Formats: sequence, structure tokens, C-alpha cells
Amino acid sequence: MASQIFLDGEFVDRENAKLSVFDHGLLYGDGIFEGIRAYDGNVFKLAEHIRRLYDSAKSILLDIPYSQVEMAELVCETVRRNHLSSAYIRLVVTRGTGDLGLNPYTCHGARVFIIAEQLAMFSSSLYEEGIKTVTSPTRRNRTDALNPKIKTLNYLNNILIKMEALAAGANEAIVLNSEGYVVEGSGENIFIVRDGVITTPPCYLGALEGITRATIIDLALELGLTVREQSFTRHDVYVADEVFLTGTAAEMVPVVECDDRTIGDGTPGPITKRLHQVFQLCTRRDGMKAYPQEAIS
Ligand code: PMP
Repeated sequence: MASQIFLDGEFVDRENAKLSVFDHGLLYGDGIFEGIRAYDGNVFKLAEHIRRLYDSAKSILLDIPYSQVEMAELVCETVRRNHLSSAYIRLVVTRGTGDLGLNPYTCHGARVFIIAEQLAMFSSSLYEEGIKTVTSPTRRNRTDALNPKIKTLNYLNNILIKMEALAAGANEAIVLNSEGYVVEGSGENIFIVRDGVITTPPCYLGALEGITRATIIDLALELGLTVREQSFTRHDVYVADEVFLTGTAAEMVPVVECDDRTIGDGTPGPITKRLHQVFQLCTRRDGMKAYPQEAIS
């Protein structure tokens, strides 16, 4: 059966899910999105994703034509309609159809679509063995130009960075900000481990406030591990005992090489493996809890 896409109030077959070429999401990247996952039939951290979507919308003065509760229900319904137990869900809100100029006030109202499909970002062997990374020459957008806290459709910075990784024969790139501090991956947050201490850069350096990042911090603290939010440079990545990336699409993936330097002994380290285990349990265990109606206003 063709996948069912939610588009502006109805479910349509994949081939009928079409938007105008005058949509400002397409013309200018003027819109916002969320990547969400469902595990074993339950949508993970849905309230958090919905909240971030509405924060992004507020920041760019975009009116979403649904309440947060309605939107959460539409996400769940999209998963159900596609008979998926585990899925990657893409929720997109564009500024809508307007004229060719930049002026967003020519647009006739936001367009909303939701896709739910299977997606694995890396092959299963890479999740076991770890990925190879490079630091990208392209720096993350400055927070005072396009704040990375807003999950906008304007992902060209991230795409260029991903292309640089692939051109260098790596699986993923590690991104620095314009001051040279490590920020995140092309579409994931980053953690390093040294002498048992887990460090992740503060998001104000230019990272998205990742929902997986927050989950990993909570789980690490629950395990009694030390977690710091502190800036670091690529030197700290090179000499770390362990490095891993987190994101909804990527989930949690170990990094075993950066710029030709082997991380630790070149295999995923014990803290990464332990966190990965509890993360997998948590995504299955907390699915229902992750959609508390009362958490959505
Ligand atoms: N950083 C960027 C730039 C991203 O696009 C993503 C994925 N959406 C993340 C980090 C990870 O965020 P999350 O864990 O909320 O998916």
C-alpha cells in the first residue's frame, strides 16, 4: 500500500502529496520542521518535539493552523495510518504559497505535512563499529545570523557540511563555529568522553537543542556518570577516549575516527556502549510516557 501522507488536513497517497512551486518553503527555505521517531508503536518524546516546533514557529512569526494537542494527534495518526510500529516521522510546516518576492506576508497560510517512513541513517555495522568523521571547513551558521535553535527548513549549511564529509570519504562531519569551537555534527549533537567524564558543547555555541542530547544527558546522570556542558576544540575530540553523536535520525552512533586520528582504541568505548544500551531501552520503555497529553498546552 502506498504510504499515506498527511497534507493540509487530509491523508493522501504519496504520489498525490504535492505542494505548489510558489511555496516559500521551497523558494526560500521559509518554514520549520521536526524529525521524530516512533518505537514499538509509541512516539518518542512527542511533547518535546511539538514544543520545539511551536517555539520555532513563534520565533519566525509563523502561525500553525493546529493546536499543539491536535498536531500531536496528527503525528500519531500518521504513524497508525501507515501501520508502522517503528518509524521516522517528518513534520513540516512551510510559510505557504505566496508570490515570487521574499515578503512572507504574500503567503496564504502555512502548509503542514507529515510523512512517516522507515529510515536508518547509517548501516547497522556502523552502529556496531563506529563511524569515521572529519571536521568540516564550513562553519556552523552564526547564532546572530540564523539561530540554530530554530529548526528551519533552511538546511543548506548542514547539507554542505554533509557533502564535505562524504567528499572526504567520511560518514559524517564534525562542525565548528566561527570561533573554532566544536558545535555538533551535520545533523546530530556531539559528546566526548575523557577519563570517565562526558562533555557536550553548550547549545549557545551554535548547536540545536537536541531532544536526543537531553535524553542522553538524563540517562548518563541516572547512571551516576559525570556530564559537563563545556566548550571544547577539535584537539579535545582527537584525544578523547570516546566520542559519539546523537540525533533522532542518527539515534546514537559511536565515532571511532576524526581527521585521520583514531579515537581511543578505534572501537566504541564502554561508556558509549552502556549509554547505547540504556538509550535503546528508554526509547522502547518511555514511548507512552513520551506523549503525555497534559505536557502539551
Ligand atoms: N543538530 C542538528 C543540526 C539537527 O538537525 C539535529 C536533528 N534534528 C540534531 C542536532 C539532533 O536533534 P534531535 O536529537 O532533537 O533530533
